[in-house]
Amino acid sequence: MKAKSKFDKFYKYVYIKIVCYYAIDMLLRIKKFKYKGEPNTMDCIFCKIANKSIPSNLLYEDEKMAIFKDLNPEAPIHLLAIPKKHISSLAEITEENSDVISHIFAKISELKSFLEIENDFRIVCNCGENSGQTVMHLHFHILSGRKLKWPPG
Ligand code: AMP
Ligand code: ZN
Repeated sequence: MKAKSKFDKFYKYVYIKIVCYYAIDMLLRIKKFKYKGEPNTMDCIFCKIANKSIPSNLLYEDEKMAIFKDLNPEAPIHLLAIPKKHISSLAEITEENSDVISHIFAKISELKSFLEIENDFRIVCNCGENSGQTVMHLHFHILSGRKLKWPPG
């Protein structure tokens, strides 16, 4: 009887230690998210498209980026190019994460025939609500297939 209660105490001790470990780990993660100002990417529609938890009309992807058709096209060809890693907007670009931008632009140029944009296209990046950004995951609109007006408005 005495031996059993010693075992019980031991398992209780281990159990509490595991619970504390996970609780502290979770608190640290929440703190990290808060400090870095990173949103919950679980709620981000373009993160979901990037990890394929929701479908899209995907034209190209690699480990860093994806290109898919815009759901509400404003031109005969209206594509969106996104980094797979969540970056809220162009305002969040730093020396550390900017390599993905050159990768996206190099890929658009490389794939211009496949994307049917050739040498006639416009790249638009709305940054912030006042510029018209509605999805807070960095994305570049690729517009082509008609004469585009200027200024865009
Ligand atoms: P912006 O207003 O610059 O943030 O652009 C967001 C764009 O995302 C709009 O042109 C929308 O039509 C497009 N969009 C939103 N949800 C989806 C989706 N699930 N699949 C494809 N395009 C989308
Ligand atoms: Zn995202």
